[in-house]
Amino acid sequence: QKHEGVALIVGVTGIVGNSLAEILPHSDTPGGPWKIYGVARRPRPTWNADNPVNYIQCDISDPEDTRVKLSPLTDITHVFYVTWANKSTEAENCEVNGKMLQNLLDAVIPNSPNLKHICLQTGRKHYIGPFESFGKNIPTHDPPYTEDLPRLNHINFYYTLEDILFAEVEKKEGLTWSIHRPGNIFGFSPYSMMNLVGTLCVYAAICKHEGVPMKFPGSKIAWEGYSDCSDADLIAEHQIWAAVDRFAKNEAFNVSNGDVFKWKHFWKALAEHFGVEFVEYEEGGEEVKLEELMKDKGSVWDEIVRENGLTVTKLEEVGTWWFSDLILGGECSLDSMNKSKEHGFLGFRNSKSSFVSWMYKVQACKIVP
Ligand code: NDP
Repeated sequence: QKHEGVALIVGVTGIVGNSLAEILPHSDTPGGPWKIYGVARRPRPTWNADNPVNYIQCDISDPEDTRVKLSPLTDITHVFYVTWANKSTEAENCEVNGKMLQNLLDAVIPNSPNLKHICLQTGRKHYIGPFESFGKNIPTHDPPYTEDLPRLNHINFYYTLEDILFAEVEKKEGLTWSIHRPGNIFGFSPYSMMNLVGTLCVYAAICKHEGVPMKFPGSKIAWEGYSDCSDADLIAEHQIWAAVDRFAKNEAFNVSNGDVFKWKHFWKALAEHFGVEFVEYEEGGEEVKLEELMKDKGSVWDEIVRENGLTVTKLEEVGTWWFSDLILGGECSLDSMNKSKEHGFLGFRNSKSSFVSWMYKVQACKIVP
């Protein structure tokens, strides 16, 4: 078969990487038929194995490994960069993430003569600042965020990645880029470092197993206020659009579902889905943090996995508690999708349907009962 596009998905088992690996092979995907290379460090997991992807185990933080494994791929036309490293300080994040992108581009750009476009996924922390700046009264922008807002006066690995990308595309005539800034992602990947839906499904499964009601591990403002999210399939569609559409070249875009929801409504949907007792957020009640609640549940999880014949996972892989505590503990700041729409991307998701469909996916892949 003759391929139009040849994609390199860097982070192919991640929350958006997995969506890209599922969507790119469809016969009606723009820019196709696609040949696909996918990179991650761990061996290929069963839940990713059905996608027609040439799977390459490679650690892009290692320049030699990256050069050896990726420089022989001379037919790449599009790069989808959907990976990152999570370090304890933002200074380290800048250094390590910067090196990863640099290693990757050093291996690909000089060796792929047909390389046309690079999609870089960053996120809404572009406007809010990195995790370490949260709650520190550092001036940030007033939401809803638009792409033309200036950078904040705080280091941010997203800025480091952008600057490396801008410098690298200069080196090759005609090479274009796009930057994609999602908010909290609803998607599927037991290998993701930040996976809200998967984490909440695991929490629900543990509550069900122990016969306890599912308390809301968050704040009043998250319970009652407006939140939004970015569906992983929508982000993949957004990146594919930018990869092939001439109106999307050399631009940064927000990418979110285009609607809002309240966690108090979704909490009910979650409880009902898993048949767990729903409880309202309790004003003035004791603070509930998943990191605390779940810290001794490793053996309970092993039991749930065994009893239900689930895909074998460790609790710390599938429960990103710190992330859920952070998201549900604060206010969600919204972005604007106007720029994407004005440039021709009219995609959207109904966040309720998105939430429910990812819960089904987590069950279908036997991650939770
Ligand atoms: P995930 O954490 O879901 O996935 C990371 C992927 O990269 C996995 O496939 C992982 O597999 C692979 N990977 C990690 N390190 C390396 C490495 N050194 N070499 C090769 N592969 C590697 O990624 P996200 O989609 O969450 O993150 C991408 C970007 O999106 C980040 O900048 C993040 O901040 C941003 N973002 C994420 C949000 C979310 O809710 N998840 C929200 C908003 C923005 P393996 O571990 O096997 O290598």
